[in-house]
Amino acid sequence: MIKQGQKMQEKLRHIPSVSAVLSDTRISELMTEYSTAAITDLVREKLSQVRSTIDDESEVPTISQISDHVSAHIEQNWANWPTNVINATGVVIHTNLGRAPLSTESIQATIDSSKTYSDLELELDSGKRGSRHARISQLLSSLTGAEAGLVVNNNAAALILGLSTLALGKEVIVSRSEAVEIGGGFRIPDVLKQSGATLIEVGTTNRTYVTDYEKELNEETGAILSIHASNFKIIGFTASPSITELSILGAGNGIPILHDVGSGSLIDPTKYGLAPEPLPQESIDAGTDLCFFSGDKLLGGPQAGIIVGRKTYIEQLSTHPLARAFRIDKMNLAALTATLIHYLKEEAQNKIPVWQMVSAELEDLHRRADKLAIIIPSSNLYSVKVIQTKSTIGGGSLPGETMDSYGIQMKVNNPEKFARKIRTGITPVIPRIEKDAVIFDLRTILKNEDEALIASITHTLQN
Ligand SMILES: *Cc1c(COP(=O)(O)O)cnc(C)c1O
Repeated sequence: MIKQGQKMQEKLRHIPSVSAVLSDTRISELMTEYSTAAITDLVREKLSQVRSTIDDESEVPTISQISDHVSAHIEQNWANWPTNVINATGVVIHTNLGRAPLSTESIQATIDSSKTYSDLELELDSGKRGSRHARISQLLSSLTGAEAGLVVNNNAAALILGLSTLALGKEVIVSRSEAVEIGGGFRIPDVLKQSGATLIEVGTTNRTYVTDYEKELNEETGAILSIHASNFKIIGFTASPSITELSILGAGNGIPILHDVGSGSLIDPTKYGLAPEPLPQESIDAGTDLCFFSGDKLLGGPQAGIIVGRKTYIEQLSTHPLARAFRIDKMNLAALTATLIHYLKEEAQNKIPVWQMVSAELEDLHRRADKLAIIIPSSNLYSVKVIQTKSTIGGGSLPGETMDSYGIQMKVNNPEKFARKIRTGITPVIPRIEKDAVIFDLRTILKNEDEALIASITHTLQN
């Protein structure tokens, strides 16, 4: 024991000192590039970690090894982030991958909006203070037929703002089939509680009628809330009232109808052979008082929560203190404006990546897959094949709906290991693993990523 203790003492004594590590050339270089204090802290942290983990078996690290570790830490953590990845999953709106990629025009708009000052909250004509919502409200009206619109940070915030403004201390009637979890722990009953409203569930899980809502109306009722089942499907013996029916009920009783349509597709997805989604313009047309949707799902824009509807309610929402807390920033506002203009120009399918992907022709995907698969070097250690596959919309839109697609299928020894390697490779690629094979679905791979994809696959195979 004593002998071992002495050995440890000896080891601890041989651990390089902070000043010795700091005088290493590589560390000195890092100190000219980065903050001296921050580099010193990193070195200290590393040395104290060495001190606390060293045991009989471990070797005392050299100064050079400690420098290696510090450099690696900096390279990994002190770099721009998020890292771009190639989405080969076939899931068009992938929340973990940042949802909708932006159009060229939207990207340019974010750059323009942030490189200098702007008239974000200034009326150039009068020189008076303006509202960041004025322009976007008009665009949203033109697109959806609503009287006014308001944009906040995301749809979750939009809902909390709407409910807090209109239903604080009041009852909100929701169908039992719609008091659901939307994803990432966002549960409608919790949202209501947070907004200070009381949830009144009506109907049953599969069937709810207008009369179920009607029976619960009283002087405590603040709103009727309808939520689109965006990430699940109830099929079979089902019934739910239309928004028109609910709107008639609401109008007759002076109760606002709030409709959360989720992905907020302004284009009818049935045009591309997909199932219908509630469109904001249809919701407004049906008489909804406030319609809520996301900016970065099927709309194909930046993260945002969009609310359209009656002017009186929009005004109430926009003056609530939470509207200030949830307000959208100028870059997202600029990107959203550019995205909405694509719809007004009827060029969404050609300009917005999400719609380019949804509308991509099967033959084109096939041709691209063939062209790329040929370039992948062959070997008897793995097989490469072009296969027909299925893409999905994802991101809480069109549950269970798939689109025929083409992909490159690679059968390798260890698909999980291969996937990990290509995720952490030169250009990270996120494939899908299906039936023990790695699949690269062409539908979600942007056209200008083809070359990088092949380089990544080749690199992964050769290393
Ligand atoms: C996705 C979704 C939300 C949440 O929207 P975020 O923009 O992610 O906050 C709310 N409601 C429905 C129905 C959704 O599909």
